[in-house]
Amino acid sequence: MPDRIQLVSLAWLERHASRPTGDPVVFTGDELTDLATRFRVGADSSSDGYCRGDWRVAQLLTTTAHPDAFPAIWSTDAEGGERYRCRDHGCDCGWTYTYVPGEPMAVPAAVREST
Ligand SMILES: [Zn+2]
Repeated sequence: MPDRIQLVSLAWLERHASRPTGDPVVFTGDELTDLATRFRVGADSSSDGYCRGDWRVAQLLTTTAHPDAFPAIWSTDAEGGERYRCRDHGCDCGWTYTYVPGEPMAVPAAVREST
């Protein structure tokens, strides 16, 4: 079975983060490798890849206006058509993400902690 990645998390980072130069983020191959390890469903949080991915996320989040809206944690799998809406989590940028059937859905860390 192929790895299941929280693509919504990667898409959110690309939409919201910027480089120190102010340029939008387009992930490099190395970043994508680390982030894919970090956001694999069932990832081993003690692995090197996970730690590197976590470090990259922390860096990227320092450049975002609403880091609390970042969909960080896997919640459940989509039936298809569900949406992640930034505005539901305090970011009014208008960004939404539509899940395909079977895709891992994610919620912000604060949401997971409060439920
Ligand atoms: Zn947003």
